[in-house]
Amino acid sequence: MASNEIRHGEISNSITSHFTDVYKLIVEHQRQVWSTTYTNADGAGAWTRAIIQDPLRPPWFSGRRELNRRYITTINRLILGHAFTNSFKFLMKKRNDPDCDLCEQHMVQDLQHLLLKCTRTRTSLNPVLHDGTVGVDDRARVLEYLKRALNNTQLFRELWDMLNILQIQF
Ligand SMILES: [Zn+2]
Repeated sequence: MASNEIRHGEISNSITSHFTDVYKLIVEHQRQVWSTTYTNADGAGAWTRAIIQDPLRPPWFSGRRELNRRYITTINRLILGHAFTNSFKFLMKKRNDPDCDLCEQHMVQDLQHLLLKCTRTRTSLNPVLHDGTVGVDDRARVLEYLKRALNNTQLFRELWDMLNILQIQF
């Protein structure tokens, strides 16, 4: 009603604005508040938030019924940062140490190690994950790759194919 009055240039003091007039504004405002809160929160989940910056975004696999379940699960674990690495198994008390058993480096086997540092995998995975930039730490590089992959799922597929060739399962 108020918008109608405004359109006709007849605004009087008796005009009240109905919430439906500003419904779009309210929704947009709430969406921004939510996104800002979500993006700026730290602690658990920071990994995922660094990749998915819009909490309201539909999942990357939505509407992709042709994708196999193991593929979706693996990619989701990468996005959640909860890939089934030795570091994660150690955290869950399923292993006595978090070290990598694919190489002899005695390094903690987390995602960054497995994807970029492990001597068993890095020759194959580095060309996939490296975008040629220098001065970027491993964590940022992996996050950046996964973030780009959300908009170009071919990147998920390339990573998945290489993990399969390396016989690494998350
Ligand atoms: Zn290793």
